[in-house]
Amino acid sequence: MTDAFHDDFGPAPDEFLDIRPDDTSADELRRSLLLAGYEPGLPGHVGLTAAAIDRQCVRALLCPACGSKGLHYEPYGRRDAYRVVAACPCGFGEEL
Ligand SMILES: [Zn+2]
Repeated sequence: MTDAFHDDFGPAPDEFLDIRPDDTSADELRRSLLLAGYEPGLPGHVGLTAAAIDRQCVRALLCPACGSKGLHYEPYGRRDAYRVVAACPCGFGEEL
């Protein structure tokens, strides 16, 4: 008996490119940081030199979802904590 979704040819090519949006969505990362009490912007305890290095690193990254080079650096701060979202215009995001 033939199953239309699981034949002998394996999964469709699109399934190999599928990225789970919950794990790689910049919007989802921003939302979770805000819910955790972080605010957008560089927190006062992080020096400008450190921030510049982080920005350079993020700009050197390749987006694994669309292949674009140069993700956007988005710093978030909460008291003495600092997080960075590396975001792509395609919607991909990664927390560093
Ligand atoms: Zn992208």
